[in-house]
Amino acid sequence: MAQQLTLALAGTIRHDGNGGVADDLADVTGLSGWLRGQAPLLREWVDGVEPPADEQTRLDVVAVRRAVRTLFAAAVRPEPPSRADSSALLSPAEAVERLNLTAAAVPVHPVLSWPDGAAPTLAWAAEVGDIRLRLTAGLARAAIEFLSSPAREHLRACPAPRCVRYFIKDHPRQEWCKPSCGNRARVARHYQRHSAGR
Ligand SMILES: [Zn+2]
Repeated sequence: MAQQLTLALAGTIRHDGNGGVADDLADVTGLSGWLRGQAPLLREWVDGVEPPADEQTRLDVVAVRRAVRTLFAAAVRPEPPSRADSSALLSPAEAVERLNLTAAAVPVHPVLSWPDGAAPTLAWAAEVGDIRLRLTAGLARAAIEFLSSPAREHLRACPAPRCVRYFIKDHPRQEWCKPSCGNRARVARHYQRHSAGR
């Protein structure tokens, strides 16, 4: 869940299909659509309350995303980071501090669930409070959980032409975030080989 939410947040910066970069959080309408799309993943953090899709929320969410993409760029080293925002990142220390401070804005407590016959599970419940803070604290906590988990070692920046996506490498031979990126990369290589020979 933490992994899915963190990758979804980072993935709001994406290839626009025309060789450029699109930002799904570029305006309040974009934020509102993204929040709706992520509602199942956000439920744990905001408890069904809809966060306000306003400019302040947008700026706060984008600030968490910048920290996340900074630390994604650090996590994929020595491979190069996504090209989309590599010139607009924080220092890793600043990004870590931002995530920690944002997460600390909302206290959480552990909740044990142990349904009859099932395995016990741990969840974290947030204190009731400002919904905007709960949203950004939830995003920051998800990022902290993911970045400190072993899954981080499978994070990759897709090397396909024009792709700016980060993804989790699911099997050893996976090179691209999705098959269409692999096709595009093969076409580009083919073209390069042929134009170089002329
Ligand atoms: Zn890709």
